[in-house]
Amino acid sequence: MTSSQKIALALAGVGKIARDQHIPSVENGGDFTIKAAISRNGKIDSAENFESYEKFLETRGDIRAISLCTPPEVRFDMAKKAIAEGLDVLLEKPPAATIGEAQALAELAHASGVTLFATWHSRFANGVEPAREWLLGKTIAKIEITWKEDVRRWHPGQAWIWEAGGFGVFDPGINALSILTAIIPGQTIVEKAILAFPENRQQPIAASLAMKSAAGAPITAEFDWRQEGPQTWDIVVETEQGMLRLAKGGAELYIDGKQAIEGPDREYARIYDRFADLIRTRQSDADFQPLRLVADAFLTGERRIVEPFVE
Ligand code: NAP
Repeated sequence: MTSSQKIALALAGVGKIARDQHIPSVENGGDFTIKAAISRNGKIDSAENFESYEKFLETRGDIRAISLCTPPEVRFDMAKKAIAEGLDVLLEKPPAATIGEAQALAELAHASGVTLFATWHSRFANGVEPAREWLLGKTIAKIEITWKEDVRRWHPGQAWIWEAGGFGVFDPGINALSILTAIIPGQTIVEKAILAFPENRQQPIAASLAMKSAAGAPITAEFDWRQEGPQTWDIVVETEQGMLRLAKGGAELYIDGKQAIEGPDREYARIYDRFADLIRTRQSDADFQPLRLVADAFLTGERRIVEPFVE
């Protein structure tokens, strides 16, 4: 595709994930070109840079698509204004700060006829679609999710993540829930949750969830941000016909202990392929089940106070 045929894209929130994934994936992909960036501190050299979102919307009516890479608490206002201007919108995960916001965005996008793509990047990891296919028709006995990482390593200096609306350990945990809800059908139900809050923070540093699949299989999830040393992002599914394990956040798939899938990480390349397809076919992709599971964990969760977290 020549550069003039590429879809002109704006990107808001030039922070860690924009720099690590979005910008290189767009630059290496064939469908989009970043023409504008909106960020108070970050810049993209090859684009026109705006500090004011309103100024961007007023002056760059030629740009018809936007990726919102800001934290969840500011995403709704940005998405709403973009939809009102008729832009196709890609939302980083989680799609919004609340289910109400997410549903409102879906309705607004539908009414305006624009594409809304609520991305769940972990669903695009190499092992996830093959895992879903392998599980089709099998009887699941139980599922165990272990998502343990070092918050200091992965979220340095991100004060917003600890504030009300910041998701805490559910910021990575929702990635596991996005994979879970992609590989098994129906609505998963939260039965019990225990949330561990550092006494100086608004959001949990760890969470234990007991859930049930639509077919009645027990599901446990252990999310913990205090893991030093090896990091664990595993989902183990025991079925009557064998054992499936997704490791490294869905990048690797093992069936009965034997590696079935590996390969280079293409999560964000696939996300932009999908965004281009959705725009060309005038469709949306906005599944909020992972967000609903997090909300249900907060609704049902027992609160435990743990030692203060100091970065
Ligand atoms: P980040 O490094 O803090 O970057 C977010 C950027 O958004 C900031 O650099 C900031 O840029 C802008 N921003 C606008 N309003 C803000 C506000 N009220 N508070 C803080 N920043 C604000 O965060 P991130 O890690 O890139 O995460 C952004 C989103 O991507 C989150 O929803 C996260 O869950 C998701 N995500 C992150 C990762 C990861 O590995 N970090 C992976 C996948 C998805 P300016 O100061 O220049 O305005």
